[in-house]
Parts: sequence; C-alpha cells; structure tokens
Amino acid sequence: MFSEIRNRLTLLYTVVMAVFLLAFIAVSDAGVVWVLHHEEQQDIRSFAEEEAKEHITMLKQKKNKIELKEENNIDAMGGKIFFYVFDDKGQLVDTNEPAVKMRPKVQEIISNWNVADGEGTIRKFYLPEGERVIIIMCSMKIYDGEDFLGNVFVGEDITAYYALLKTLLIVLIVIAILFLLVATFIGHLLAGRAIIPIKQSFVRQREFVADASHELRTPLSILLSSVEVVQTDDSSHLSSFSTQVLDDMKSEVKRMSKMVSDLLTLARADAGAANIIKERFDLYSVTEQVIRSFQPVADEKGLELGLDGGEEMVIFADKERINQLLLILLDNAIKYTPTRGRVDVLLRRVAGAKPGISITVRDQGVGISDTHKSLIFDRFYRVDKVRSREEGGTGIGLSIAKWIVDAHGGTIKVESAPGHGSTFIVNLPS
Ligand code: ADP
Repeated sequence: MFSEIRNRLTLLYTVVMAVFLLAFIAVSDAGVVWVLHHEEQQDIRSFAEEEAKEHITMLKQKKNKIELKEENNIDAMGGKIFFYVFDDKGQLVDTNEPAVKMRPKVQEIISNWNVADGEGTIRKFYLPEGERVIIIMCSMKIYDGEDFLGNVFVGEDITAYYALLKTLLIVLIVIAILFLLVATFIGHLLAGRAIIPIKQSFVRQREFVADASHELRTPLSILLSSVEVVQTDDSSHLSSFSTQVLDDMKSEVKRMSKMVSDLLTLARADAGAANIIKERFDLYSVTEQVIRSFQPVADEKGLELGLDGGEEMVIFADKERINQLLLILLDNAIKYTPTRGRVDVLLRRVAGAKPGISITVRDQGVGISDTHKSLIFDRFYRVDKVRSREEGGTGIGLSIAKWIVDAHGGTIKVESAPGHGSTFIVNLPS
C-alpha cells in the first residue's frame, strides 16, 4: 500500500515537473524565435534603406542618360546577403546575387512581390535537390524628392539561424529529459521520506485496532455465554419483555463479535501476520456445510438456496479462510435478496492455461450499479449505508473476501446491474 502511495507521489512530482519543463521550453523557444524575427526584420529594413540611398546617384545618372561612372557590379559568386536594384522601367541596374541554386526562386519571389515597402517577409522554399531554404526579404522604392527612380530588393539567407534554433531546441529537450530523470529519482526519495510519518501513525493505528479487537473478544464471548446461561436457566421466570431484551442483547453482542473479529482479521492481514495455512480438503462439502448454516435464515426470508457442482472437489487452500469467504458472499447474497428469491452457488473446475476452481455466488437481489462495482471491495464501503446497517453490515466483508482471494493468488469480480441481482465470481488457482 505504501509503495503504491510512494509511486503515485513520484508520478505526481514527475508530471508536475514535466509540465513545468515543457512550458519553460515552449516559452523560451517562442521568445527566442520572436526576438530573432524582430531583429532580422529591423536589420533587413536598414539594409534596404542603405542600398536605396547608395543607388540614388546611379539611378539618377541612368535616368538622365548620363554615362554610368561605374560598371554594373553583377556578382556571380552569390552570398548570404543579396540585393537587386531595378530602375523606373523595371530594368536590372545593379545586383549582388544570392547563391546560384537559389537565384531562380528568388527571382520568382521578386516577380510576384506584393509586400509593403520596408516590411521584412520570411519565405521558405525547397531547392530542386530537396534542400530547405529560409530567406528574409524586403523591398524599398527609391525616390529623388518626388521623382521615382526605381526599386531595391534586399534579402538574406537565414537557413543557418533556423538550423541553430532547431539544434537549440533539441539540446533543451535532451537537457529537460535528463532533468526529469534526476527529478524522478529525487522525487522518489522525497516521497519515501514524506510517507514515513504516515507509515508510523498507520502502524500505531493498526496495532491499536489489533490490540483493541483482541482484548474485546474475550469480554464479548463472556457476555454472549452469560446471556445464553440466563436464557436457558431462567427462561421460565423471565417476562416476555425480558426475553425480548435478552434476545436483542444476544444479537447485538453477536454482531459486535463479528465486527471485532473482522477488524482483527484486517489488522493481522495488514501486519502480514495473518498466515494462510493450506491443506487439501473437499470444497463441495465445505460449501454444503456453509449453505446448511444459512438455511434457517433463508427459510425465514422465504429464500431458496441451491448448490451445483458435482460431488467431490478437492482443493489445496486455507480451509478456514475459504469457509470465511463463502460465509461473506452467501451472507451478502441473502442480505440483499428480497423474500422469495433464489441464491445459487456454483462450483466449477476451470481447465486451460491457468487451471483452477471457480466459485460463483448468484443472487436475485438489488444489484450493484457500475459506479459502485469497483468500490465495494474497499474497506468500510457501503452502497446504501442505511440499508447495510439495517442488515447488520459494516462494509468490511468484501474487503476481507478480496484479501482471502488475493492471498490465494486468485481473482474476485462482480457482474451485476441494479434490480437484476449480482453474481460474484471467484477464481482460485489449483
Ligand atoms: P456489508 O457488511 O455492508 O455487507 P460488504 O463489504 O460485504 O459490507 O459489502 C459492501 C457493500 O457492497 C454492501 O454495503 C452492499 O452495498 C454491496 N453488496 C455486497 N454484496 C452485495 C450483493 N450480493 N448484492 C447487492 N449489493 C451488495
């Protein structure tokens, strides 16, 4: 139980840490991308303004048909930063071209240009050999006063920046995973420390329950035998009221004894002190005997009890505990079935990969809804508290049943629907 709490706490720590790390990575990555983008836009705009200024004289001379002083500087090498200057007629007058492989794409972008002046825009495209390229581009109109001289397009290949960002993201994720592993380990240690006081108080409480139950058993059995002695000895002298009071007392003492012995079983099971002592015995005759012990209660309620499962069925298990398991399941089936119903017990040998024995207890009672099915095996869980109390229930029975089945390496499940009865199926390995 405690290792489960510890693992759950560790899982919780890890999930919280993972969420924090993920949020940190997402926010820092988005922040870096935004800053970079902003910077690049400013740079490319200044670059466009610079180029526009630099080419005013050249474009003016060209417009006035003055021989150009400089030769057109058509760069065939290609670089990361590039520009194209066009005159007012759209004729290329100067350029510093990008890498050769990129040129057709860049020229295509320029011919379809529809971005506002001075606004940096990022374009992504693939080269014929499959390489992904990311560029930022900006255009600017060149004026001499009111006189339109031409256009300049500038751009920069920023593929490397984005590759760097991707690498950074991968590094961050790897670091986050390492941190998470360390955090999980530390979380496991811390969770172990956190549950020490809980463990101690649980052990003290368990010891108290075990001691109190143990101490209560003797006075209760003395009380029960005393009531029985008074009933047999003085029955002729007792008024009908006193007889009734003694009957009620007897049934309350019986109820208390059962509760105390159930609590003791659970406390011992928790402490690992409730040993399972296996022996070979006939399950059929044990079941028959349990059914016989319930016959008076069933008759009183007008219920029919049935047993199906052949004659002898020898199993290797703890006879006392299996007897207790049958008592719990039959007691519930009878308690929660209305008058004139049926309760059937079926015993079967199960063949196959996991051979064993199945015990089925089927009733025609109130049934259990899906929401309660998984909870009824928890301690002190009762679907209808009032009804359970009226029937003398405490909510411990099925948790003991589950413990007995688990201790034998078996399984217990319930198939039920409200108003359609319940079927408890126990599978025990042979
Ligand atoms: P209790 O002492 O209250 O019967 P159990 O642990 O035996 O405690 O059962 C837990 C709860 O499961 C009961 O309170 C009851 O609501 C429900 N339950 C158990 N067996 C049946 C059954 N055969 N039919 C309907 N409800 C059942």
